[in-house]
Amino acid sequence: MKLIELPAFSDNYLWLWQQDDQAVVVDPGDAAPVLQALARAGLTLAAILVTHHHADHVGGVAELRAATGATVFGPAREDIPLPFTPVMAGEPLVLLGQRVDVFDVPGHTAGHVAYFLPDAQPSPVLFSGDTLFSGGCGRLFEGTAAQMLASLDTLAALPADTRVCCAHEYTLSNLRFALAVEPHNTDLQAYETHCQSLRAQGMPTLPARLGTELQINPFLRARHPDVRQAVAQHAGLNAKTQADDVAVFAALRQWKNDF
Ligand code: ZN
Ligand code: FE
Repeated sequence: MKLIELPAFSDNYLWLWQQDDQAVVVDPGDAAPVLQALARAGLTLAAILVTHHHADHVGGVAELRAATGATVFGPAREDIPLPFTPVMAGEPLVLLGQRVDVFDVPGHTAGHVAYFLPDAQPSPVLFSGDTLFSGGCGRLFEGTAAQMLASLDTLAALPADTRVCCAHEYTLSNLRFALAVEPHNTDLQAYETHCQSLRAQGMPTLPARLGTELQINPFLRARHPDVRQAVAQHAGLNAKTQADDVAVFAALRQWKNDF
């Protein structure tokens, strides 16, 4: 399989996954770049996967379905342009010969899902939508800090070589915040240098490698003593609150909102 990122709007990526002459698109907020990519490569669109209901993820769904007849899959509990086939955690799909696992990852929205391809070659692929970004995580619009922490725990347990396909190029601004939290994290310093040079060449920083995220992403490291200490100091948490994983995560997310 081949992964293609299609830039859209100011900082979205619409992910196209190609197998022979067929493709699946994830979160087409805009139909035009997808139709252009399909035409350019002579591909048929087999399916549309949606992670959550926000306009920058579903804006092109109706037009793409009308133009291609592709089947739309999306989270059962979200308001996706009808008709669509609801997906459920624990009920994998098979698309273009690939097994696609579905995870419930509430927090950014109430019914957000992620799609995981465990058998993709050369390594597994995760479409994380607006839940996990490189160096960051989505804002809590509809869910709680406890839900987002549990959702990130689910994703963090996937294989280290998983290629994380996030829906936004937010990496550099996320890393500026991450460095404020962990200024002495040498993996983080090196990763920021690497991402700066990718962006300077006009290249995406994605897909990210999950194992790297575990070393550099403060939202996957909220239980690490250094992160816990930095958050406690920034937010003025007392010793009891500082021992509460969800309270620390909530304060970390708030710190980022205000950064
Ligand atoms: Zn969103
Ligand atoms: Fe988004």
